[in-house]
Amino acid sequence: RRPRIGVVAVQGAFAEHAAMLDALGEPHFELRCHEDMERPFDRLILPGGESTVQGRLLRDEDMLEPLRKRIEAGMPVLGTCAGLILLASRIIDAGANDRTIRPETHLGTLDVTVERNAYGRQLASFATTESFEGIGTVSMRFIRAPRIIETGDDVIELAHIDGTIVAVRQGSQIATAFHPELDDDTHIHELFCGL
Ligand code: GLN
Repeated sequence: RRPRIGVVAVQGAFAEHAAMLDALGEPHFELRCHEDMERPFDRLILPGGESTVQGRLLRDEDMLEPLRKRIEAGMPVLGTCAGLILLASRIIDAGANDRTIRPETHLGTLDVTVERNAYGRQLASFATTESFEGIGTVSMRFIRAPRIIETGDDVIELAHIDGTIVAVRQGSQIATAFHPELDDDTHIHELFCGL
């Protein structure tokens, strides 16, 4: 049986992930509300978008706690951009100095510190190509992206640009600061589907 992927679809770029999964022939469906959580899925995608909005909607729909439990139990998850922020256990807002932990609106299962909107106005959006552990060169598109500034002992760094960590893995959690779903390259989704 192929794994079935739940794509969190409360806000943001979920349709682009769905299109990529279609291209790969991977079964998937949208997780929009608490009732959707009763459908069987054994993998999770957290798309880009606005993490504060997504976190609040997930909390209001009573989806945050069940998703956290399942990720902690080992369900593979791919978080991109805002999805990375939702997974991060420590968050710094642009212009702030303090690390905050927001268990009520974040999953906090990934042992990293992220800084939101870390590239400033000039570089709010940019694209580049860099090497990604186990894949080779991939194109990376950044949109008001976060930066990973600290990683815990169990976290493997998968990609860097100019010394900044832009992709990590911790067990079955993969997170990228960029948007693999916005390019034609399916390698990162294939890596995730192969976990
Ligand atoms: N800046 C957004 C946030 O803080 C993330 C941007 C994105 O997902 N493209 O949630």
